[in-house]
Amino acid sequence: MIRIIINGAFGKMGMLATQTLREQSDFQVIAELSHKDDLANALKTLKPDVLLDLTNADAIQDIMPIIIQSKISTVIGTTGLSAESIENYKKHADAQKQGIILAPNFSIGVLLMMKYAADAAHFFHEAEIVEMHHRAKVDAPSGTAARTARMMAENIKAVPIHSVRLSGKMAHQQVIFGGQGECLTLQHDALNRECFMPGLLIACRAVSQLDHFVEGLENILWPSK
Ligand code: NAP
Repeated sequence: MIRIIINGAFGKMGMLATQTLREQSDFQVIAELSHKDDLANALKTLKPDVLLDLTNADAIQDIMPIIIQSKISTVIGTTGLSAESIENYKKHADAQKQGIILAPNFSIGVLLMMKYAADAAHFFHEAEIVEMHHRAKVDAPSGTAARTARMMAENIKAVPIHSVRLSGKMAHQQVIFGGQGECLTLQHDALNRECFMPGLLIACRAVSQLDHFVEGLENILWPSK
């Protein structure tokens, strides 16, 4: 049985994750925390096997030192940590053999799309990305589109990204490759937050077996040699 604490349990992702984890026979949700709770004290007294953090970009800045201090195996689904702080916390976690999975995207479909796009970029020399999201999404281009373009950059230097913000859309991305007499389109459609749950469960199961920091769920799903 994996005893797990969820931090940020009353947010949109936190509530769905809590419900999903409660439905699993190998997890026991032992605490659901909000910003009003004392995370450091909860980790010290309840000693969970795993902490799952689903808070926000501001909160995670103060939460990371508590996670490192606790040495508890942790899955961080929260986005917004800078590359510099990730590098810093990776050093600490690796040195003290703490398992941490930082997974900015739990969607297995998105991760596969990025992997296939990076593969296809070896063979096609032109590509453009079209990402479409609901109107409430403030940032553009999306983090997923920017990351996909970075993963293709070794072979296709400048990948234009087109961002569409429209009512009726959820989260969609096409990577369109142009070739000689042919084109290839990779498409992913996220219909709701349920798409994050299979990957979230994989991360929460895997993390207690880890003794180091892993950035990106893809490195758990298909580790490079
Ligand atoms: P949300 O609805 O705003 O939920 C965040 C929750 O965190 C709120 O309930 C907030 O409520 C709580 N919180 C804030 N500060 C806290 C603190 N110091 N300690 C404990 N709880 C705190 O956001 P969301 O849509 O659920 O997303 C949560 C995070 O997951 C975001 O960073 C988002 O970008 C990310 N996300 C990741 C994935 C993925 O695949 N990895 C997918 C979707 C979203 P209180 O202030 O009331 O406690």
